[in-house]
Amino acid sequence: MLSLFSRRAARHSIPSTRAKYIPRPAIRQKSALSPPYLLDDYLPKYQLLTPVQEAKKRSEAYAHLSNCNLCPRLCGVNRFKSRGTCLIGSDVVVNTIAPHFGEEPCLQGHHGSGSVFFSGCNLRCVFCQNHDIAHQKNGFSLSPEELGEWYLKLQDVGGVHNINLVTPEHVVPQVVLSILHAKTLGLRVPIVYNTSSFDSTTSIELLDGLVDIYLPDFKVWNPTTSKRLLKAEDYASVAMESIRAMYAQVGDLCFTSDGLAKKGVLLRHLVMPGHEEEGKQIVRWLAENVSKDLYVHVMEQYHPRAHVGQKRRMTSGRAKDVAEGTVEPGAQPATDEVKKQLRYHEINRAVRLDEVGSVKAAAEQAGLWRFCEPAEQAGFHL
Ligand code: SF4
Repeated sequence: MLSLFSRRAARHSIPSTRAKYIPRPAIRQKSALSPPYLLDDYLPKYQLLTPVQEAKKRSEAYAHLSNCNLCPRLCGVNRFKSRGTCLIGSDVVVNTIAPHFGEEPCLQGHHGSGSVFFSGCNLRCVFCQNHDIAHQKNGFSLSPEELGEWYLKLQDVGGVHNINLVTPEHVVPQVVLSILHAKTLGLRVPIVYNTSSFDSTTSIELLDGLVDIYLPDFKVWNPTTSKRLLKAEDYASVAMESIRAMYAQVGDLCFTSDGLAKKGVLLRHLVMPGHEEEGKQIVRWLAENVSKDLYVHVMEQYHPRAHVGQKRRMTSGRAKDVAEGTVEPGAQPATDEVKKQLRYHEINRAVRLDEVGSVKAAAEQAGLWRFCEPAEQAGFHL
């Protein structure tokens, strides 16, 4: 007697003369692992530098530290002696070094992304999601060589899949020196440059040959918005230039067959409440000017932080009542008008799903198709 399984197997193994061939409709392949993006193996770019190229990178890094015009703030200070807007000198200040499991699945894998959270920043985003790290000099000082030794600990003890440099725009020369030092100690994993995109093209040139994966944010589009919320009116124009330079170096995001990203650009856009139209402009620009095959993460995890929703700094009279109790005279509950006096009230809420959805829809309409989506089966997705 045939089991149910073998009956089915037998039924399927007999070709039926009456079976009709129904052609499958052509479906565009959605996988991020189509052949152009699948690598057999990968050797980090810094492994390919010659001793002469390394020496040149070192001397350029020291020259930039002596006269720092490395980011668009163009302070021109000697960082061995004084500080610019970023408040950081010739050593780096690091808040946290650890395997991190809060990144995209293709970066964190099963063992984590070896993250280095730098203290300080060259932007002043009023909603900064890492406010306690980026807006304060909060951490421990390391020389570039000590920093490189930490990369080795992350690799050899932590077993991480990459070294992930978080908010590094203001410490690029030190990062260059640290990677070159770590190479001599035996570093073998790819380098991730996790940036706000407020980088100069000079910085990106200095990183050429050292960074494998660029992880840029593109935050807002309008100069009025970036002036108010990022304290940098030229943010979008700088971001456009630097993202194009990053893409020219490493191209589209590529993976090995284990689903881990090894080289390319992974672009993030954090959708801001009430600013979805700017998000749409950004994704359209990316599709038209960078690549329709760009790997994009449209993020929805915005929450009011840092200065957003804080009371105004008022010290007397009605302003003081509002600042202290958010009430109108007579202890009446504050009206909507009064509540608006909280700082940056227009972004003092979580982003709505329809706002996120409209940015994703605009991205698809523009021709983008490689999106970072949540993993369907826990683990990290291919
Ligand atoms: S990296 Fe720092 S010191 Fe150099 S230009 Fe930018 S803000 Fe100024």
